[in-house]
Amino acid sequence: MYDYDLLVVGSANADLVIDVERRPAAGETVLGSDLAVHPGGKGANQAVAAARLGARTALLARVGDDAYGRLLLDSQRAAGVDTVGVLVGGAPTGVALITVDPSGDNSIVVSPGANGRLTPADVRAAGGLFHASRVVSAQLEIPLETVVEVVRSLAPGSRFVLNPSPPRPLPAEVLAACDPLIVNEHEAKVILGETGVSEEPEEWARILLAKGPKSVVVTLGSQGALVASSEGVARIASVKVDAVDTTGAGDSFTAALAWRLGAGSALAEAAAYAARVGAAAVTRRGAQESFPTAQEVDALCR
Ligand code: ADP
Repeated sequence: MYDYDLLVVGSANADLVIDVERRPAAGETVLGSDLAVHPGGKGANQAVAAARLGARTALLARVGDDAYGRLLLDSQRAAGVDTVGVLVGGAPTGVALITVDPSGDNSIVVSPGANGRLTPADVRAAGGLFHASRVVSAQLEIPLETVVEVVRSLAPGSRFVLNPSPPRPLPAEVLAACDPLIVNEHEAKVILGETGVSEEPEEWARILLAKGPKSVVVTLGSQGALVASSEGVARIASVKVDAVDTTGAGDSFTAALAWRLGAGSALAEAAAYAARVGAAAVTRRGAQESFPTAQEVDALCR
């Protein structure tokens, strides 16, 4: 019997957002809107997305002993995430400084802060969480050696899901553990290497699968997704919605997929549900604020 449907190991950031008329050039100062502070980071986002759907969720992450760290802990707890695995201190909370211009283009500076101090030793010390969790998910906003330790800490019979974002080449040991590896178009291209790769997402899925994961999911925004496994490649239709903000779509998709897989759904079925969750998330502004409940997902598809 598992205590958690999903253990998310990953980042927690404060997103500091200012709207500007024009993003500043070197040496320039521009005035912008009032500051908006949002809880973010891919790990924190995935945990909130899963908990909002009803998954029993725990987060293993590190935040600073500061106001942003408390904001992140509060937002996780408010969503129903168990924060027993959130470590505090060692560096300031990770921060993303974001300026957005009227066309929606942004410039972002990330200070990983405490995320960069989530160590393999922290993962080993959290061994009990791994044994209590049916599915474990990770991303790459924490050190790669920490993700390697996550893979080594998986309990027998548990399942590992990885969204390699921001993308970088992955060791064979990590690739082999993924079931699935979940990538968007940009992440697929970086992991495959830009040169000599076809423009066909079906082809990316096949080549990625040949690199070792047990299964692969390629998300294609408004075009839905592809799933690939030893059973072949299948297309997952998107749900038609009026998209207002795609921030967090991939995080909510990944969380929903991981949760449904843990509940016993087949890959294509879990991805179809995740596509509904991603579609619901893009109908609202923001990241964590936009994630739907299971009831909202059901209502979307009536
Ligand atoms: P990321 O946020 O990582 O770039 P995507 O943009 O591919 O990820 O979105 C993840 C999933 O969310 C997609 O596979 C799709 O199912 C859903 N989704 C994203 N954007 C839209 C959209 N405009 N309309 C409907 N579904 C969407």
